[in-house]
Amino acid sequence: MTILKIVEHPAAILETKCRPVTTFNSELKRLVRDMQETMIEADGVGLAAPQIGMDIRLAIVDVEDEHGLIVLVNPELIASSGSQTDIEGCLSFPELYGIVTRPNAINIKAQNVKGQMFTFQAEGFLARAILHEMDHLDGILFTSKVEKYIPSEELERVDS
Ligand SMILES: [Zn+2]
Repeated sequence: MTILKIVEHPAAILETKCRPVTTFNSELKRLVRDMQETMIEADGVGLAAPQIGMDIRLAIVDVEDEHGLIVLVNPELIASSGSQTDIEGCLSFPELYGIVTRPNAINIKAQNVKGQMFTFQAEGFLARAILHEMDHLDGILFTSKVEKYIPSEELERVDS
């Protein structure tokens, strides 16, 4: 496995709308494993392909709950409800944290690394992490949603 270089802001790739993944092969599986290694090494809870320099609709999330690693290929939001307001960070913005409001519960569909379609429901912090990564695939950065920045010394790390 390989630790990949995480792209940090500012970079055009981070503000690019990514293209769908159409080929589900061993290269994609290897990329997912490398992204997982990279996310763990960086102590993050999620990582999107543009953050490692690729403009494809692939993201991973692992908030260390019972779901373990969630691989999202071509994810789409089907429904959302409620709202939550909490602190977010991003591996592409080291030491930057802010308050972001997002839906509290989501229903998404996506493909797995084999190309099989699945639906998934999440709420709370897991929903937040998934929505943060899905935003990356549309070139949307959390800074566009921050209501208030928080000095990093006041926080535990919550990067995605
Ligand atoms: Zn991020």
